[in-house]
Amino acid sequence: MAEPTQARPKGTLDFVPPDAERKHHVESVFRILARRYAFQEIVTPVFEHTEVFVKSSGAASDVVTKEMYSFQDRAGRDLTLRPEGTPGVVRAVLENRVRLPARLYYIGPYFRYGRPQKGRYREFNQLGLEALGEATPMTDAELIYFGDEFFRDLGIVDLTTRLNSIGCRECRPAYRAELVGFLEQHRDKLCDDCRVRLERNPLRVFDCKNATCHRVVGDAPKPRAFLCADCGRHFEGVTTALERLGLKYELDDRLVRGLDYYNRTTFEYVSGRLGAQDSLGGGGRYDYLVAGFGGPETPATGLAIGLERTMLAMPDPGKPARRRLAFVVWMTEAERAAAWDLVDRLRAEGIPTLMDYDADRPKRQFKSADAAGAACCVIIGPDELAHGMYSVKDLASGEQSRVPHDLIVPQVRAMLRD
Ligand code: AMP
Repeated sequence: MAEPTQARPKGTLDFVPPDAERKHHVESVFRILARRYAFQEIVTPVFEHTEVFVKSSGAASDVVTKEMYSFQDRAGRDLTLRPEGTPGVVRAVLENRVRLPARLYYIGPYFRYGRPQKGRYREFNQLGLEALGEATPMTDAELIYFGDEFFRDLGIVDLTTRLNSIGCRECRPAYRAELVGFLEQHRDKLCDDCRVRLERNPLRVFDCKNATCHRVVGDAPKPRAFLCADCGRHFEGVTTALERLGLKYELDDRLVRGLDYYNRTTFEYVSGRLGAQDSLGGGGRYDYLVAGFGGPETPATGLAIGLERTMLAMPDPGKPARRRLAFVVWMTEAERAAAWDLVDRLRAEGIPTLMDYDADRPKRQFKSADAAGAACCVIIGPDELAHGMYSVKDLASGEQSRVPHDLIVPQVRAMLRD
């Protein structure tokens, strides 16, 4: 279908001011917290060989079968814009022989050709953690707690943490057989997609959004009822740790997550403030993926948070009337050089500052200050210059006062609420 080419492509977002600043804020809260939990940043390419995703996310997963932006480059290589973070991270860790165990975090754009709606985009950003080489349930609990702390730091309330375990290679075959047996009995009620899932990866049926399929799996056997002793102990380790941390969670039998590589713990954060796309993030254990990439047996667990949905769930900051900006105004030509020096000084102190170089009269400069959304003006006239003073005007209240030269920086900072 033709799309107006002067508009942004369907499913993409622009971050115009002040949203880009809010995005940056979310990223820095994540970064600071990740470092506090001893994670180090990893940056990998936005595109990878298509095989990297097919091999890890699962050839039958929705992401791989329907949602990838795949293309051939000019030399005929099969490439894909990354739909998620973990496969590229695992590939990079092995290729660069990153020492294991390793705690890594990443932030960046991801691409999925889904049906766009509020909270679901074709280009979106994820903030993720991968703990490679840690088998203990304490790590799963730590990651789950990390996400909860991150959302709390951003003022997000109305959050539910869901938890499940989907077993391991030992116990999953028995469960799978039981599930397939059950689904076979209800085959006629399943959608076409789920009939294919039934053959290729029956756990995926739990993810189906179709109302009838949803009802069918409501009565299906549940993965947690089939856990082997080791998986049972691991899951108990996670729940005990979460209880000690004081984190409330809900057990969710349907939580199998959309990607094939998960085992044991799966978790998800759901917001009551969002509509249909209410999952803010989630993750789980993936103990077989590193070896699947040809690396050593490496237990691992990860977490990915959606940045756009996080921003939607955050409290509305309201429209700030004024920007964190100081504007320097000169009265007559004689103070213009002093005004310029002051701009320099304020900027050197880290204060965002502007002046209007082209204006001929103070009135025009005040107009420019207002148009820029500045919070205050610092005014230099002949009298101020003669007495070593500046006048400062709060543009929201209109209040004006005089400040000696050496106090101007703290005064402006106070007015910008630094
Ligand atoms: P997933 O990798 O599917 O487990 O997704 C992890 C998180 O990324 C989700 O909980 C969402 O917050 C976010 N996410 C996934 N897909 C999209 C999308 N198409 N648009 C916006 N956010 C998304």
